[in-house]
Amino acid sequence: MDTSDNMDLTPIIQELYAALDGKVTEEILRKELEKYLVTYKTGVTIAKDSIIRKYRNNRQSGTALNNTAVTKKIAELEGTEMIVTVVAKMIFVEKKDVVIKNVPKTIISGIAADDTGTAPFTIWSDMGDFQKGQVYTFKNAYTRTYKDQVQINVGIRGKVEPNDEVHFDLPNSSANGTSGGISSATDMAIGDITEQTKNLNVKGVVSEIQSRTINVKGEEKTVWGGIIADQSGKVQFTSWNDFGLKEGETLYVKNAYIRAWRGIPQLNMGDRTTVERIEESITAVGSGPTKKTVEDVMKVGGGLDLSITGTIVDIRTGSGLIKRCPNCNRSVLNNTCAQHGEVEPVLDLRLKLTVDDGTGAISVIINRADTEKITGMTLDQAINLSKEKGDMNIVANKMGSTLLMKKITVTGNIMSDDFGPQMNARTAEIGSTDVIAEAEELYKEVEGSL
Ligand SMILES: [Zn+2]
Repeated sequence: MDTSDNMDLTPIIQELYAALDGKVTEEILRKELEKYLVTYKTGVTIAKDSIIRKYRNNRQSGTALNNTAVTKKIAELEGTEMIVTVVAKMIFVEKKDVVIKNVPKTIISGIAADDTGTAPFTIWSDMGDFQKGQVYTFKNAYTRTYKDQVQINVGIRGKVEPNDEVHFDLPNSSANGTSGGISSATDMAIGDITEQTKNLNVKGVVSEIQSRTINVKGEEKTVWGGIIADQSGKVQFTSWNDFGLKEGETLYVKNAYIRAWRGIPQLNMGDRTTVERIEESITAVGSGPTKKTVEDVMKVGGGLDLSITGTIVDIRTGSGLIKRCPNCNRSVLNNTCAQHGEVEPVLDLRLKLTVDDGTGAISVIINRADTEKITGMTLDQAINLSKEKGDMNIVANKMGSTLLMKKITVTGNIMSDDFGPQMNARTAEIGSTDVIAEAEELYKEVEGSL
């Protein structure tokens, strides 16, 4: 197989550049191409296909496409921007304190408007106080679409600054219309709940429940947490009052509300919530994982115990043989832990994959046991191999050439952060289809017929 050593890559780079509408620089394309051809030793067809798939969806940002945020009007937002600047007036804004898994967090959400339209926004950390009616520049934001509506998000890379130079004459409908605040509770199927859901009523079966004691402003308080499910899905709940909930009960919960933590919606039962026991027979989804597409997951932002099947299109940095701090288990570089200083690291195996199922791409982290299983390389073998070659990267490269373009089914919880959805896989199975062999086969056939 040809490699870049004796091959002019320029025509392929130009082809890729055109195929990706000029959104990825030629420099990045050259690096990517070299990675596939030289490091993973794939053929040209596979390399091209992988790169196009990787950048086409443009949802995960393993590699930032473009570090300069373009400025767009709200009506121009597509819901897929990874980095974008928007100048808009906050026509509604509120701070929300959320406490999930004992971690308190303040987020800010509201409605932004410019002279072309309105969009809900969420600032994922407490960046200060914002004034209703003030125009702000939402710098380095990203967007998502939910129910055909574009949402503006500001994560750790973003900033929101007052902008006194711009004034908008807003149409009355957008200035007075959507409040984004209180919405009346309606009945919902659990599978339709998203992180944007506010008040709701649900019917479902309690499939797990446990109580725990938390400390609220110096006082001990008992809360109940568990899982409630119907035929469409399941959701974690937290009950802040004692409703005497028991496993196996079928409930009609009214006036509950949703708070999301890293993209996973959580059902909260608070002071305004009522709980009725009902006779209705509800078949709750099984205990197995729920099969989803990446597109489904993107709409919700995350979820519990999901199953995704797709193609491995990238082995990301941080895969293969890695070093961990013996105290906190964080991965460390140069034997230095951010928290514990210089340490004698413990070696481990891990994979960070980009998996594309045709509807989108998701980042998947795979633990040592499953990494050993799907690559056929044990930790000891990996250590020996890296000693032999004097290079730890050899392990990730070898794993890359085994796994790239293979079909994989992964299950686990999916959470979202600035970089899009990520799954910590509980299980990983490689499919029997050898995509590389299939594609090479097809390529030979096509070439042969020319
Ligand atoms: Zn540490």
